Amino acid sequence: GDMFGSLKALPADPILGLLAKYRDDANPQKIDLGVGVYKDEAGHTAILDCVKKAEKYRHDNEDTKVYIGPTGSPLFNDEMSKLIFGNHKVLIENRARTVSTPGGTGALRVAAEFIKSCKAGATIWVSNPTWANHTGLFEAAGLTVKTYPYYDYENKTLDFDGMLAALKEVSSDDAVLLHACCHNPSGMDLTNEQWQQVAEVAKTVGFLPVVDMAYQGFGDGLDEDAYGLRLIADSVEEMIVCSSCSKNFGLYRERIGATTIIGSSANAADIANSVLLSVVRCIYSMPPAHGAALVETILNSDELRHQWYGELKEMRDRINGNRQLIVDKLIENGVTRDFSFITRQKGMFSFLGITPEQVQQLQDEYSIYMVGSSRMSIAGIANSNVDYLAQSIAKVL
Ligand code: PLP
Repeated sequence: GDMFGSLKALPADPILGLLAKYRDDANPQKIDLGVGVYKDEAGHTAILDCVKKAEKYRHDNEDTKVYIGPTGSPLFNDEMSKLIFGNHKVLIENRARTVSTPGGTGALRVAAEFIKSCKAGATIWVSNPTWANHTGLFEAAGLTVKTYPYYDYENKTLDFDGMLAALKEVSSDDAVLLHACCHNPSGMDLTNEQWQQVAEVAKTVGFLPVVDMAYQGFGDGLDEDAYGLRLIADSVEEMIVCSSCSKNFGLYRERIGATTIIGSSANAADIANSVLLSVVRCIYSMPPAHGAALVETILNSDELRHQWYGELKEMRDRINGNRQLIVDKLIENGVTRDFSFITRQKGMFSFLGITPEQVQQLQDEYSIYMVGSSRMSIAGIANSNVDYLAQSIAKVL
């Protein structure tokens, strides 16, 4: 047969390509500001201590590898819904149903397939710009993807008026994707007052809010980062939250996340849950168990949970500290352009706002690697490289 003969090679993921170039670069001063994983001062993505302890516990206590079912671990799901919603009424009213998923990506794909079950060919609105994988992922599930204004590249802030105006015009049977916190790629989040306005529009228009929370705890704190989605849950009857344990637990390769569906009543949630389980069954049947077991072990133990809070805070504080550090160092190196917006943004990324040519020059002449849009991963900055980074940026400006 020649089924494959019609295939054309697709370009490799640009971020992974960047990573390969960085690896092959012999310059000892090279800096990787590409990929969105947390790194410590030494540039290492270590395993959290609380995770190491949970793994030991798991090793000593796990007694079967039997199938776990499409829902995944009920204890993990319960702990995740509390992490997302705290003591919100949606939990008290028994309107939330959570399934464990293979990472945040799996959570989004399950959500997309679920939306398709509600309405074939439904439209989902995503921010402009958004995480590069959102569009392909939703389209692969048969949804129509449209964009609403979000980042104002010119003024390096949120185009909130544009966003709100667009959301007022969407249809009541559309879905709208919102980033809970640490917007990827812009780092620009909504203020509490802006969340309030989005919640009001969601209620008035009646669209389905789909919240992607891949960085809970990386912005201002666990509850602070969930403020907006909890506010929306106050006012709407139905919503979906997709969360990930990749970043905040450092469990990137374990592939663990969750999809949480909120129904208008406990009964509606049960019906939605049955559809959710059938969606899961047809994609990967059952989620991986290991990451979920680690997370539930941590969240279920006072000692490990508090250790996790501390380790999460350390990651958050380092990233936020780096934001101030690079802005200070740019000034120190005579840069007059205003980069203070970096300190007003949150999470792993900011757009530096330089031209693609300048990005290329940083790479070719200074071995500094960031994606062409000038999105830089803040976690790649360290005390040991920030002077060189600031000097190099100053030279290409
Ligand atoms: N959503 C956003 C906005 C992300 O940035 C990411 C990862 O970078 C994900 C979802 C997916 O994360 P995971 O690795 O858990 O699949």
